[in-house]
Amino acid sequence: MKFDREEMRLETCYHEAAHAVLNHLNGFIVRRVYVTEKLNAMCVTAEPRIPYPWQAFALACSLLAGEYAVDRQCEQPPRTLTFEKFVAEAEVTWESYECGDPEREDDFVRCLEMLCIAAPSGIYGTLEECYRLACEAAEHEVEVWWEEIVAVAEQLMEAKYLDGAEVVMTIESAWGDGRQDEIENKEER
Ligand SMILES: [Zn+2]
Repeated sequence: MKFDREEMRLETCYHEAAHAVLNHLNGFIVRRVYVTEKLNAMCVTAEPRIPYPWQAFALACSLLAGEYAVDRQCEQPPRTLTFEKFVAEAEVTWESYECGDPEREDDFVRCLEMLCIAAPSGIYGTLEECYRLACEAAEHEVEVWWEEIVAVAEQLMEAKYLDGAEVVMTIESAWGDGRQDEIENKEER
């Protein structure tokens, strides 16, 4: 039982770390990220009140990236919901809000809201195409920024709370180690 809880804590940390890393790298200011004893967790980011379509698309990707990071950490193939399932999940969560249950994970609702801002721009196709593009982009970004996500997740496991500056420092230190090696290896070749 204890093991399960630790496993869940680890997954939660990876989920929130993915939000934090992608939001930061997409130019949003991450205020704090935390996970409590009861595994309530959140990445608090300063977001524009009315995002531009490309900002909405980036935020949708970040919201989807949480679970992709968990999949990758568990060495599972990434699970992508069909568009119909995704919308259905968002609706279930929305209904539970209406019934006054604010505790539920709201990533799907937020993501759908963001996609509804991004899609009408015409840049990303229909709402469904926009969703698929966001899934692909999120999966790709988790892959590209994996070292940074691991660094933030590990730091969060230990500290349980990181403020914005600590998030940035952790991301940049991962960049320092990993990316620097990569660059040096390339130069040697
Ligand atoms: Zn989330």
